[in-house]
Amino acid sequence: MEPKTILQKYWGYSSFREGQREIIDSILSKRDTVAILPTGGGKSLCFQVPALSLPGLTIVISPLISLMQDQVQALQKRNIAATFINSSLSTEEQNQRLKAAQNNELKLLYLSPERLATIPLESLTLSLLVIDEAHCISIWGNDFRPSYTKIISYFTKNRPPILAVTATATTRILKDITGHLTLQDPAVFTQAAVRKNLSLQIMNTPTQVIKLLFVFEILKIHSNQDGIIYAATRKQCEYVALVLSRLFPDRSVSFYHGGLAPEERKSVQDAFIAGSCNIVVATNAFGMGVDKPDVRFVVHFDTPISVEDYSQEIGRAGRDQKQSWCYTFYSEKDLSNRLSFVTKNASAQKKAYTERNAQIMQSILLTKNCKTQQLAHYFTTKTHHCYNCSSCIPKQKLQKRLDRAINSDVLRSLQAISSKLHTPLPPVSARILSVIQPHQLQYIPGLGIGFQKKQREIALSISSDSDKIQA
Ligand SMILES: [Zn+2]
Repeated sequence: MEPKTILQKYWGYSSFREGQREIIDSILSKRDTVAILPTGGGKSLCFQVPALSLPGLTIVISPLISLMQDQVQALQKRNIAATFINSSLSTEEQNQRLKAAQNNELKLLYLSPERLATIPLESLTLSLLVIDEAHCISIWGNDFRPSYTKIISYFTKNRPPILAVTATATTRILKDITGHLTLQDPAVFTQAAVRKNLSLQIMNTPTQVIKLLFVFEILKIHSNQDGIIYAATRKQCEYVALVLSRLFPDRSVSFYHGGLAPEERKSVQDAFIAGSCNIVVATNAFGMGVDKPDVRFVVHFDTPISVEDYSQEIGRAGRDQKQSWCYTFYSEKDLSNRLSFVTKNASAQKKAYTERNAQIMQSILLTKNCKTQQLAHYFTTKTHHCYNCSSCIPKQKLQKRLDRAINSDVLRSLQAISSKLHTPLPPVSARILSVIQPHQLQYIPGLGIGFQKKQREIALSISSDSDKIQA
């Protein structure tokens, strides 16, 4: 079947998105292919459509169980013969699924790289091998997985054409992908690292109080919209979530980090995707598998230090291609604190790389030129001025409004109690967060009555501002 017919029949779309058709054609011509598409750029379709067009089986190597389960579920809903084999299944169920693959009853089979060792690959009729999140192959990526570097060793006798897909690949990562997978003269397709519908807004935030003030404003602007707030540490996530859930009692705010139990993490992620949770304050553990089309804003509450992580994280906004906003808070102190924390026990090589990466991140945030262009440049992709970032457009109304707030007396008094805000909070669990009542807030260090009063004053002073924000 023709790719376009497949697209229409199974997905109901009449045309491909920019760049997808070229990638699909390259795969169908049996050429090794590398596709670097921004997060939310329609990566999966680039191999799912050819998988249905090719005669045999397509194996998809995927790094996370939740990721493969989500994709398989979505495919099965479209009546596509896809499945996964992983440790969540009984041995009997695994054998049944393998048999279906051997009998040519499946079009797509999802596996982790570790699982390859246990599958008799020579008994399968393979048409295509897909390596999803292929940056995991490279030690220069933050998601490095040693088992990814061994993938090709399982396909020495039975090697189909290979497609490697990723959202982030620098020249170094691309070299590792090509080398480890022994790709033969691959066709490489790259798209700009930042989608056109994302507006990068960089804000100078010298103190924690100013950050809170900004995030307070941002949430008011996006009053009916869902978003993600990235913070550097678990403690910071819990703290920011607690403050916001009190300031916006009518909105559902949760936090997400690696310290939560797996079932707690799953319930936060599910609630966010379903729309019953509006705002998630998360560490970078909140990532792959968060496929929600209408995330309208992403805030980086603490200054990002990794260009790869940053571009993946902002890529979670606006997957429905509608205008979305990425607010990034910058302070030099933040950046150096995070850097020294991350590099504390790192090898000399990793330390040098991380420091260099943070420097580049800083230059992107500080440049007076187009931020989007500068970010694309890092990923060796080219793009025109975006006319959409905080360099390209004259000072945003939001920024002007915030500037005024910063110069106001309200902020000065807020700063006077900022030392209280820095008081570390005791660990707060999701359960406690859900049972705390507003009147109990005064008992929490740093969030006493004074703080609430000041916040109310800020709210009043800001709401008296008649500027209408275009968000
Ligand atoms: Zn720009």
